[in-house]
Amino acid sequence: KPVRERQRLPVVPQGIERDEFLAALDELKAQLGGEFVEVNDKPLRDGWYMEHPNTHDMMTILDEEELVASAVVYPSTTEEVQQIVLWANKYLIPIFPISMGRNLGYGGAAPRVRGSVTIDLGKRMNKILDINSEDYTCLLEPGVSFYALYEALKEKGYDHMWIDTPDLGGGSVLGNTLDRGVGYTPYGDHWACHAGLEVVLPTGEVIRTGMGALPENNTWQTFPYGFGPYSDGIFSQSNFGIVTKMGMTLMPNPGGYESFMYTFQNEEDLGPLMEIIRPLRIGMILENVAQVRHIAQTIAVRGHPRSKFYQGSGPIPDEVLHAAAVESPVGDHTWAYYGMSYGPPHIRAYKLAIVDAEFRKIPGAKKVDPKSLPEDEYFWSRDRIAAGIPDIHELRWVNWTPNGAHIAFSPVSPIRSADAMKLFDMGKKLHHQYGIDFFPAFCVGLREMHLIVEIVFDRDDAERKKAAMDCLRDMIDQAAALGYGEYRTHLVLMDQVAGTYSWGDGALMKFNERLKDALDPNGILAPGKSGIWPKRYRGRGWEM
Ligand code: ADP
Repeated sequence: KPVRERQRLPVVPQGIERDEFLAALDELKAQLGGEFVEVNDKPLRDGWYMEHPNTHDMMTILDEEELVASAVVYPSTTEEVQQIVLWANKYLIPIFPISMGRNLGYGGAAPRVRGSVTIDLGKRMNKILDINSEDYTCLLEPGVSFYALYEALKEKGYDHMWIDTPDLGGGSVLGNTLDRGVGYTPYGDHWACHAGLEVVLPTGEVIRTGMGALPENNTWQTFPYGFGPYSDGIFSQSNFGIVTKMGMTLMPNPGGYESFMYTFQNEEDLGPLMEIIRPLRIGMILENVAQVRHIAQTIAVRGHPRSKFYQGSGPIPDEVLHAAAVESPVGDHTWAYYGMSYGPPHIRAYKLAIVDAEFRKIPGAKKVDPKSLPEDEYFWSRDRIAAGIPDIHELRWVNWTPNGAHIAFSPVSPIRSADAMKLFDMGKKLHHQYGIDFFPAFCVGLREMHLIVEIVFDRDDAERKKAAMDCLRDMIDQAAALGYGEYRTHLVLMDQVAGTYSWGDGALMKFNERLKDALDPNGILAPGKSGIWPKRYRGRGWEM
């Protein structure tokens, strides 16, 4: 795609004059070194996943200039992060920390407030500080990607330990964990698997959580709680601190693994399938996040553009999808289940026999033989990911539209037939209303499931972007009316989603605002993130 060259004046944060801002940046340059403070005055380039910009959201649903940084700074130590925070307090400049900024679908590297100074932690703070091969733990800086951690274990010959990776492995382990991202081994709940943080507070002090507060400790990564209130929670999906180190637990190599795939014929099979999955998942017979994917996504992940199958406007008709799927392992079925069984052969055989007997209770259920699948089949990407091997095959469905970008709707629900069908029907109806292809996947965590709906849109088509936004906003409201809330959301939807968590006259948000005002009295750190606005911004028209 040709780069749109154009002149850009750097954006300046609101409330400060351009000259004063540039002078303040010079002061920061003197502290960090000139090359580690960059004014964002170049044309905005979208790049692609592995060469993504850190100045804006490469998959923006708004105008590209809306959520854009004024400058990017690159600290190399916790002390430099403290210096940046003190500098921001001095000039009341909003700062926005990212680890690597590959948070695609949720805002990428973009700050919530236009003109914020982005702190790109990952570029220079990218060390694996420790891998403990006896405790199965590691201690990481923000710039360690899932790929990098995986490679480091391989290099050291630590075959007895696995990492866990999300669908795309290029992101930061620390950033993804703070945003409560998930992966597909039994250690898939990243937040639950972390142990210990080092955090720079918005007023510049540094704390270590859990056992890290004990000066001579040797258990920071093995006992997450320490003594007293468990503070880690307030640093995830929040704007209460900048995390500079994080401990992570590693999974023991289970001694063997085996992916399996089932397909189910009809859309309505989803309901009974959920009733079967629930006890199997809670009982750990299904050992990793159980994924049930709709045929539409199965087609799209093959990487062809939608125009190969359909040239009409409006959502692609079901019969076209089914015709397109005939050559795929899903054949004439609608749902694909991807799972993995762990352990030596006899242990796997025991669990897989139970799964097989249960899944076959759905009439027409089919088990796909992995031996029949070519090497580049999506199944093998799921196989790698469920074995903790980072991958980026998942990105292929972004080719569905020209200039493809995506944004997610991800409500949490019980693992029940009625809930799955209610969410599916609501999503399908609204996608049809807005003329959008519906890509639902149900991901069963343990006692709940996330429905992940990815809307793929052409980022150069203002009308389709508006349709996507309208559809998302309606889905969020209608889901909330039915009792479902999002587990995570894009920057532009944070106010709305936070607003749905309104029990007790918004008691939780009032509590968050009280914490925010106490911890960040000048309101400099990531204002508006997760819908939490500091006093200086509240009620002044920043919400959207
Ligand atoms: P990824 O891990 O996918 O590269 P990011 O680095 O963008 O993603 O992190 C995801 C989210 O977590 C962002 O919204 C960012 O604001 C927040 N975040 C990332 N790193 C930190 C950090 N070190 N301290 C505080 N918040 C962070």
